[in-house]
Amino acid sequence: MLQRLGQNVNLAGASLFFHIAWRERGLCLPHLDISDLLQVDWAALHGAGFRAAIFDKDNTLTVPYALELQPSAAESLARCRSHFGDAVALFSNSAGLAQFDPEGEEAAALEASLGVPVLRHSEKKPGGGVEDLVSHFGCQPHEMIMVGDRYLTDIVFGNRHGMLTVRPRPFTSEGEPVTVALARRLEAACTARWLVQGHAAPSHPFLKGQASGAFLLQ
Ligand SMILES: [Mg+2]
Repeated sequence: MLQRLGQNVNLAGASLFFHIAWRERGLCLPHLDISDLLQVDWAALHGAGFRAAIFDKDNTLTVPYALELQPSAAESLARCRSHFGDAVALFSNSAGLAQFDPEGEEAAALEASLGVPVLRHSEKKPGGGVEDLVSHFGCQPHEMIMVGDRYLTDIVFGNRHGMLTVRPRPFTSEGEPVTVALARRLEAACTARWLVQGHAAPSHPFLKGQASGAFLLQ
């Protein structure tokens, strides 16, 4: 119970979010904000030069705490792997995080269940560096795509390191703790306002002036 509470209180992340909120609001804004992962055109992304895809787990590929992929996520992930091969991995703030999964047991169970490598790391998103990802994938951060449902964690992490960021709508709010539900509402309100104010996701070299919508299936 305590461990689960700890997974949901991300003070370092929250303070970074507010710090960014005053200075670099674009870091919280994804390049692609979509309702469903099936909209992503993985072939176009690979063709543009991207070489690795990193996925959050809860409410991105599965419902929270589940081990089974949601059907649309499973199909999109399969399409992604058909273009990116082995350069696809899961990067979670629970499984594989040393603080909550020191022996990597949860990570191993997930790998067996989802068939995707789970990266082991010691700092929660959006904190932490990118060196482990660079050595795992053998490519540079701007060649990576970060996919996750949370502006505060997944999107800020990816944008901080110069990745392309993709935010699918979460599957459900069911079973989510109050802390996460509140954080979500706050993030959604802030990011909607910043978009209206004219803020945008950071520029990315592979976008080459074209709209990020070029990476969506029509
Ligand atoms: Mg998530």
